[in-house]
Amino acid sequence: MKNSSSHQLTAAFQNARYVFLDRDGVINRKPPEGEYIARWSEFQMLPGVEAAIADLNRSGRRVIVLTNQRGVALGRYTSADVETLHHRLQQRLAAHGARVDAFYYCPHDKDDCDCRKPKPGLFLQAFRDFPGSSPANSLVIGDSISDIEGARNLGIPAIFIQGDPATQKSGAEQASALADAVAVSLAEAVAQYL
Ligand SMILES: [Mg+2]
Ligand SMILES: [Zn+2]
Repeated sequence: MKNSSSHQLTAAFQNARYVFLDRDGVINRKPPEGEYIARWSEFQMLPGVEAAIADLNRSGRRVIVLTNQRGVALGRYTSADVETLHHRLQQRLAAHGARVDAFYYCPHDKDDCDCRKPKPGLFLQAFRDFPGSSPANSLVIGDSISDIEGARNLGIPAIFIQGDPATQKSGAEQASALADAVAVSLAEAVAQYL
């Protein structure tokens, strides 16, 4: 695995005006494999996330959340539930002087769409919605191989969030190798850079 050296982090952040954050495992504690976060009461913010997002906001970067929410296709919750949860998250962030500029989610099942990461649909939609954004001035921060592969496929620099080694998903080694930099958490990545 790569070290989470501040040099690698600095290089990844350098040109990034648009920071694409994965949600589960980056902003909030990721559920065990096969389980889903359906509502706000199940949503546990990871330490330092509000402050890290506020720092990104203050630095002039756009913060955009891209998340696979296959639980919708599986009937565990609805698109309205996802949107309600994101609204609650936005309120929580606002209380800390932070904001997400846009949320995009894929509600589809595996192999059913062009937007489930690592497919490019969510990224491409964001690039359309934010004129001036492009792979060259963006950065992906994610805790899954699908985040890092999605970034790589479009030529976007990527930081892999290792999280807790005890609950790391399969693919972590591969994601570390593929990423431009590795960090323990979003808070650590932003603190080391900014
Ligand atoms: Mg994740
Ligand atoms: Zn999709």
